[in-house]
Amino acid sequence: MYNSSAVGKSANTQAGNRFFVYEVVGLSQNTESVQNNSPIRRSGSMLITVPYDRMNQEMRRIAKMGGKIVSIRPLSEAAEAIANANGSKKNTVAEAPQAEPQSQPSKPMTQAKDKKAKAKAKAKDIPVNIYKPKNPYIGKCLSNEALVREGGSGRVQHLVFDISGGDLRYLEGQSIGIIPPGEDEKGKPHKLRLYSIASTRHGDNEDDKTVSLCVRELVYQHPETNETVYGVCSSFLCNLNSGDDVQITGPVGKEMLLPDDEEATVIMIATGTGIAPFRAFLWRMFKEKHEDYQFKGLAWLFFGIPYTANILYKEELEQLQKEFPENFRLTYAISREQQNAQGGKMYIQDRIAENAEEIWQLLQKDNTHGYICGLKGMEDGIDAGMSAVTSKQGIDWSDYQKQLKKAHRWHVETY
Ligand code: FAD
Repeated sequence: MYNSSAVGKSANTQAGNRFFVYEVVGLSQNTESVQNNSPIRRSGSMLITVPYDRMNQEMRRIAKMGGKIVSIRPLSEAAEAIANANGSKKNTVAEAPQAEPQSQPSKPMTQAKDKKAKAKAKAKDIPVNIYKPKNPYIGKCLSNEALVREGGSGRVQHLVFDISGGDLRYLEGQSIGIIPPGEDEKGKPHKLRLYSIASTRHGDNEDDKTVSLCVRELVYQHPETNETVYGVCSSFLCNLNSGDDVQITGPVGKEMLLPDDEEATVIMIATGTGIAPFRAFLWRMFKEKHEDYQFKGLAWLFFGIPYTANILYKEELEQLQKEFPENFRLTYAISREQQNAQGGKMYIQDRIAENAEEIWQLLQKDNTHGYICGLKGMEDGIDAGMSAVTSKQGIDWSDYQKQLKKAHRWHVETY
């Protein structure tokens, strides 16, 4: 189930030809790096170019010599050629291209690239609020299937709605609003609740006529009366029968969109129903066939659930993993069944901590995107795991993460 070998190899192979530039401070000019002509910048820092497969080793070497890495940047295509020409022989620290001095730590994307990405997003046709709460689309429930198997906890349903009678369209990573019928305690119509879309823009039947959701029924004991309370909208949805009407608004959301880059590395971190947008991503990447999008990159899904029986879309995920072992890596954190290194429950943050070195290396490529979706609060543990790795190199994870977010490469939707 937990497979790290096959795709890990592909990730290395894919990145094996790539180079990264470390900006290092604190190395004396007599060090080996200087003898290898690593340029000294006006700021006193030094640029060292390192092939992907030697990144860890080089980090350790620099630390041993008392150096501190203040930034890591992927080498541009042109600079890669220079580095290759200068000899990227094993154990060689090649000469880095001259760069303007920079006072800031690592920049995941240049300003020009950032601007370009923004312009691209603007130019891209992202549908938003085609149906507003005052005039919702009335869809029909086509199917409502249980996703939690026997022995699992709670109730999560996969719902498919017919949207063929209107103009509703959407992209992977967006959400729709559902207005439950009835009124709230103040006698006003219920407000809409948002749900991440679990299907691709083409829908589960690939005919552009449906939209799917993955909904957990909210059930809790009232803290004072101890009565069992069922969430208004989630229980309405989980109890739908085929043929029932549903008021739909939206779509909304630009945060969780999938990059167009077919070579991208897409790291997805989900808990529970947070799998919804990633199911859409994975279907688009691997299940559907498109003229204009043929995914050749690496998709790595971390999925946190309490029990094996709670692995939503288990068969689909494992089938894709079987079919595309070089491009899809699947890592579960099954909290009530697996143990972390300390012998405690295996939560998503433990899996991130285990793999943080590799995630960090992948994030050095400027076409790597990180996505987090699911339970509110799950970010803290993930940040802690990443921070433990970056701090070894003197890099503040929260600063780095801010830069990733600015570059539209770190995407978070928790609820
Ligand atoms: P409500 O009837 O609105 O009850 C919720 C309220 O119950 C809470 O505000 C709180 O006051 C109270 N409450 C909840 N738990 C407890 C407790 N343990 N003790 C005491 N009080 C409590 N949900 C999904 O299932 N799938 C999705 O894909 C999904 N995607 C989302 C995407 C986004 C962008 C957002 C913002 C939310 C998403 N949600 C998703 C959550 C969803 O919008 C609803 O919030 C959820 O279904 C609960 O709505 P409800 O009407 O059933 O609950």
